[in-house]
Amino acid sequence: MDEAVRIERLRALPSIDELLARPSLAALLQAHSRPVAVAALREAVASVRARVLAGEDVRFDERDVPLALGRASQPKLKPVLNATGVVLHTNLGRAPLAAVAIERIARIAAGYCNLELDLDEGERGSRYDPVVELLCQLTGAEDAMVVNNCAAAVLLTFSALAGGREAIVSRGELVEIGGGFRVPDVMRQSGAAMVEVGTTNRTRVADYEAAITERTGLLVKVHRSNFALVGFTEEATTRELAALAKARGLLVYEDLGSGALKPLHGEGLGSEPTVAQVVSAGADVVSFSGDKLLGGPQAGIIVGRKAAIARLQKHPLNRALRIDKLTVAALEATLELYRDGRDETEVPARAALLVRPEVLEARARRLSAMLGAVKHRVVPTLSRVGGGSMPLAAPPSWAIALARSGSAEAVHQQLRAGEPPLMARIVDDEVWLDVRCLADTELEAVSRAVANAH
Ligand SMILES: *Cc1c(COP(=O)(O)O)cnc(C)c1O
Repeated sequence: MDEAVRIERLRALPSIDELLARPSLAALLQAHSRPVAVAALREAVASVRARVLAGEDVRFDERDVPLALGRASQPKLKPVLNATGVVLHTNLGRAPLAAVAIERIARIAAGYCNLELDLDEGERGSRYDPVVELLCQLTGAEDAMVVNNCAAAVLLTFSALAGGREAIVSRGELVEIGGGFRVPDVMRQSGAAMVEVGTTNRTRVADYEAAITERTGLLVKVHRSNFALVGFTEEATTRELAALAKARGLLVYEDLGSGALKPLHGEGLGSEPTVAQVVSAGADVVSFSGDKLLGGPQAGIIVGRKAAIARLQKHPLNRALRIDKLTVAALEATLELYRDGRDETEVPARAALLVRPEVLEARARRLSAMLGAVKHRVVPTLSRVGGGSMPLAAPPSWAIALARSGSAEAVHQQLRAGEPPLMARIVDDEVWLDVRCLADTELEAVSRAVANAH
């Protein structure tokens, strides 16, 4: 296309005001609010301009407006189909909530509630009161509290228990959580001075002991939740640190991160300490996430000794890091499922981790039958826990491997652009759909998404 044609095509692009006034578009635009109509028309015109500038000979076409309107009126945050096989995918919102937790949120969100009101006394209560007893029952701890997420729990605990003092931590446990956030940076932000002991692979209780001074406030243990250390390794156990702390009048804080409330006995899952084990080993304060292995809402749960938790509650940061009523509602409902022994079937993340391979194979075969003419194979695969939990776990699963048609990345991009978007895994330049995190009710939508992308 020569320069004169290009300039002519650009000049011919309609203005937004002109499009808004066009009788031929009136019926279509009237179905949407003005801000949506304007955003859609801007997008439609901008995309033609971009194509002309890239050298294509195209003009504005009214037939592109419905699609632009559809996009502009869609919420930006929307459900996606998770065929990655990663159960706790941070980019995909981590744990899906249990049905009873969703119902509880809806009920509480719709009106007023006793969030900070003790109904017996008619006095002000604490917002996480509804979950304290459940958390104590499930972990064996004396007391509990909840903040916005586990990083907030780390910040609050360090600020309240080691601010202006020293916190001793092993060099083998200075974890980066993900997204560039590092536990040592969060600790430093609290005003605690970090004293690193041991080496990357070996740290003994004697290393902590040798580092204790009159400025020491806390002995710290960070669970290696998103990486593993194998080979010539050694670490001080919680029990050893607790004995040392007791003898020296100090406290032990363990950041568990992943936070399994009950053991996860399943093929390929390995072993993960439960919160109750760490509490019974003598940790004074333990923190963990609400939306990792627990499978509840985003939250940072802190359990431990009454006196230590009281210090955290009184700290000014507690107010800044507090949870909202919807989190309390969802967390209470989720913890009730654990209390009642219904967690393995009704907490979706836990069910997805514990589901048997035969069930997954049958699900993959059902999806296969729906795919009709789309060429594919049904293959065994390994899923992942994700969300910075259980890095070595590789539970056996089943997947649909789509036959190659162009680059896998290009097919995946089309799947992501679908409605709903479908997130897959790329294996050797093939698109694989791991069925572990797909509900049976989603298979129909998955097969439609695949057909549309072909
Ligand atoms: C994931 C993790 C955190 C942060 O938890 P969020 O709930 O994502 O804030 C902190 N510590 C450890 C050890 C973790 O694994």
